[in-house]
Amino acid sequence: MENIEKLGVDIGGVIIANQDVNADTSFMSKNYLSTPALADAFIELKKLNEGRFRDRVYLVSKCGPSVQSKTRKWLKHNHFYETTGIPEDKVHFCMERREKAEISLSLGLTAFVDDRLEILGYLKHMRDLFLFNPTKEEVEANKEHLPLVKVVRTWSELGALLNP
Ligand SMILES: [Mg+2]
Repeated sequence: MENIEKLGVDIGGVIIANQDVNADTSFMSKNYLSTPALADAFIELKKLNEGRFRDRVYLVSKCGPSVQSKTRKWLKHNHFYETTGIPEDKVHFCMERREKAEISLSLGLTAFVDDRLEILGYLKHMRDLFLFNPTKEEVEANKEHLPLVKVVRTWSELGALLNP
């Protein structure tokens, strides 16, 4: 059973764009439903959920209750579930970064995509770790984990790696 591949995907900075807090459509503003998705995120997630990780793609996000509720509204408003085929019950939240490891273990995830190298450092037990478009500061502050991960800049790059 444990050869079954399961993919975990972070939300902020991987599916929902991280924008400057002063941007009109920042997720921290009242216009958060208009915060853009990362280019090709939905289409590549749909392909992965239909292909290699058939019905085994999970979203795992660390945030407090207010951002959790905004995230659920954003996913619905932007037709995430219909477009990707990933159902709402595959969305998981936690309050602490290190809790992503507990969730990932209990779900049996084998691969994870995150924009935080620190988080991937908690997920060392997984076969495939992808660091998505990180900031220079994030890499510098956690560089001991860099040998564990593959760095990707875009969803089409990630899709090509995961769906060769
Ligand atoms: Mg993130």
